[in-house]
Amino acid sequence: MKKGLCILGATGSIGVSTLDVVGRHSDQYKVIALTANTNIDALLEQCIAHRPEYAVVVNEVKAEQFKTKLKTSEVSNISVLSGVKALEFVSTLNQVDSVMAAIVGAAGLLPSLAAAKAGKTVLLANKEALVMAGDIFMQAVNESGATLLPIDSEHNAIFQCMPAGYKAGNTTKQARRILLTASGGPFREKAIEELHDVTVEQAVAHPKWDMGRKISVDSATMMNKGLELIEACLLFNMAPDDIQVVIHKQSIIHSMVDYVDGSVLAQMGNPDMRIPIAHAMAWPERFDSGVEPLNIFEVRQMDFEKPNLERFPCLRLAYEAIKAKGIMPTVLNAANEVAVDKFLNEGVKFTDIPIIIEKCMAGFSADTADSLEKILQVDQQARTASHKIIETMLA
Ligand code: NAD
Ligand code: MG
Repeated sequence: MKKGLCILGATGSIGVSTLDVVGRHSDQYKVIALTANTNIDALLEQCIAHRPEYAVVVNEVKAEQFKTKLKTSEVSNISVLSGVKALEFVSTLNQVDSVMAAIVGAAGLLPSLAAAKAGKTVLLANKEALVMAGDIFMQAVNESGATLLPIDSEHNAIFQCMPAGYKAGNTTKQARRILLTASGGPFREKAIEELHDVTVEQAVAHPKWDMGRKISVDSATMMNKGLELIEACLLFNMAPDDIQVVIHKQSIIHSMVDYVDGSVLAQMGNPDMRIPIAHAMAWPERFDSGVEPLNIFEVRQMDFEKPNLERFPCLRLAYEAIKAKGIMPTVLNAANEVAVDKFLNEGVKFTDIPIIIEKCMAGFSADTADSLEKILQVDQQARTASHKIIETMLA
């Protein structure tokens, strides 16, 4: 029996890599639904190649344009839906077994959570969903019996280094530490005093990974590693102080688990997201990802260094947020999304990003995050506060 797959965020970097893997294993997977926000040309091509039952275009104007295009295409029988509710509808369809959660940012929370509540196999790339609503998300997975498989390369690596039969969210007493690797991004060695005038083009040009624009900026500020630190605390039930971030510029080791007997297990491979995607899609088996074998002789050398928190204040803020727990990771994530968006589109400086986040966090007192309603409310409040901070800054 083929597994039914829904890809949330099919037109993005992770979505495209997922479809590449699916194309190699059409005997095992059937695409049931593909979703996009606005990129209808890419979605149409994907629909022609993969013949889903449903296509969702969240933006309603674009959805109408998409329907017109579809009518004259060879795939006019596909059902087209629009609006945010349609994302939840397709991620919980009976014929869907696995949901690739690859929408970027907070917009991915509700459909990813719906998939978890419906007991699906959730392939989680959308780290922001977990950062925003970690406890609620993990609780939904536990209660429904959903299978949660990490796609983020580091978390997928850690998962692979965990003992056989390991389930996300469980504690592993024998694992004493996680070594979370980071490439250090494009500004690992740039003089700190020159960081204030880096351009958007410089920030999104990642030396090792080809990714969407938001995560590329997050990698340059190292907020990506901050979000991943929080993600790792939740997925592997570890305290933040038991997770050491390690800058490893070659991006060959994707993370490590340090066991009580002194064994350190690492997962290695070429930096290509099709590896964690194929791992999760074939789990607990393995299949071909299409990635070239690692040439260890070309790698030759691997370097490891501690991150400098003065260079990367976003990483410090993430440690502070996860230690404060409750609503603070939600606030951190919302402020970061607003600040990065304004950096990408409207003249906020690269070095303003952590300043905006820190100011925003300072405006919130520690509080529990015990319901989805509260999390969504805090998310909105933090966004409004961040916009105000930016207005004052630019005035
Ligand atoms: P991307 O920007 O390339 O793609 C984002 C996808 O989400 C697109 O399909 C877009 O249509 C959809 N989308 C955007 N805004 C939306 C909205 N408001 N409503 C509905 N859909 C929306 O992003 P990406 O690089 O593929 O990253 C996706 C997620 O995976 C992010 O959470 C990122 O942190 C995570 N991730 C990505 C990589 C990578 O290599 N790209 C690696 C690890 C984790
Ligand atoms: Mg990652």
